[in-house]
Amino acid sequence: MHSYDPALTDLVLGALRDRLLNRPALNHPGEADKLDRVLAGLIGPDGNDPAEVLRLWTEQLAPTAIAVDSPRFLSFVPAAPTQAAALFDMLVSCSSIQGVSWLLASGPIAAENQVLRLLADLAGMPRSAGGCFVPGGSAGNLSALVTARDTARLRRSLGPYDRVRFAVSDQAHSSIGNALRIIGVQPLVIPAEDHRLTGPALRTALRADADPSDIIGVAATAGTTNAGIVDDLAGIASVARDFDLWLHVDGAYGGAGLLAPSVRHRYDGIEHADSLVIDPHKWLFAPFDCAALLYRDPRTARAAHTQDASYLDALHTDDDAQWNPSDYAHHLSRRARGLPLWFSLAVHGTRAYTKAIENALTLARDAAAIIRSAPHLELVREPELSAVLFRRIGWTPRTTRDGQLAFSPAGPRSSPRPVGRARRSPDSPSSIPGPA
Ligand SMILES: *Cc1c(COP(=O)(O)O)cnc(C)c1O
Repeated sequence: MHSYDPALTDLVLGALRDRLLNRPALNHPGEADKLDRVLAGLIGPDGNDPAEVLRLWTEQLAPTAIAVDSPRFLSFVPAAPTQAAALFDMLVSCSSIQGVSWLLASGPIAAENQVLRLLADLAGMPRSAGGCFVPGGSAGNLSALVTARDTARLRRSLGPYDRVRFAVSDQAHSSIGNALRIIGVQPLVIPAEDHRLTGPALRTALRADADPSDIIGVAATAGTTNAGIVDDLAGIASVARDFDLWLHVDGAYGGAGLLAPSVRHRYDGIEHADSLVIDPHKWLFAPFDCAALLYRDPRTARAAHTQDASYLDALHTDDDAQWNPSDYAHHLSRRARGLPLWFSLAVHGTRAYTKAIENALTLARDAAAIIRSAPHLELVREPELSAVLFRRIGWTPRTTRDGQLAFSPAGPRSSPRPVGRARRSPDSPSSIPGPA
């Protein structure tokens, strides 16, 4: 199984070439019973002809994965890796890099850290800032909040079970609430003004609280996932300073906007973050899974996350230059998942990224202009980043869902008739609904 197989290599590289060359259709979800039938008996004591297995993948399975890099993918969060990043990801896989520690992967870690440094500089964090790449924003938020909690307990001489709370906006991403629940920290939920958490709202909530002394930090969002709204980071940072709070900034989706001069001012204050999360797999054209986690003072993360086990003793030295990514998040073994982005940044340069992100922002503004001038559509709010919220006038959530079903390839299933529109080919541009 480990010897070089030229036929297998050609087969897989051929499929890879195909995927890189041909823009995929949007694709559509498969049906569980059909997929069960396709897969039945595939894995048993004897293997199969790789060409057959690959054909099954190409013809039956791959088409059920929605192509989130398709230009027609307009919902959820798209991810469109550059060709350089996608290709380099293959090399990372083939290189069996254990990204856990400097001892095992110094060069790859130095390269990952070069990208983290770039992101820290974009945010204006100090030279001391550093961290690691984790699988996603959720993992980053969890690890950052663990560090915030443990740092506060240490600094305030609290016991491991003393009550502490964290201020969050009612617009914070679900993973923030999840993380707080997992780590036993209560949220102090602050109502956002027009979906944006502001410094004054935070100050008012802290002053109104009966005993704010156990509130140890605040989580701000740099680009809400639903609407692309960046919180009042400068205002929040100033309150955080006054109340001695850890400032966590969740820029999982929006952090990429730091590269775009046209919106950079929205992020003013981000330089004060104690911890910051940015997902390159969302808007920095890296393949899944890739989230950057940065700390203003990485020593706090090391104190919270370094694992102590006899077999790991060799990883830890007194040399601070020997960076162990495993010490900065809740993980140990790890893929060097920052490398595809590193390669692509090195190949294309940051200007290409700035241009691509500005393009997305322009597209959002252009889309908003079209929506504003279309009598059957209503722009819900001006886009601040790349998310565009609009409403089909006269449609309820129910008719909107039915309308979506009408344009899905499977057509409406358990739903009543689609809203006044015939079924058309899912990939034909003419299936975009116009004014009724
Ligand atoms: C997407 C997102 C997350 C979660 O990130 P994953 O990579 O999906 O785990 C967290 N916060 C914000 C603001 C997000 O947009």
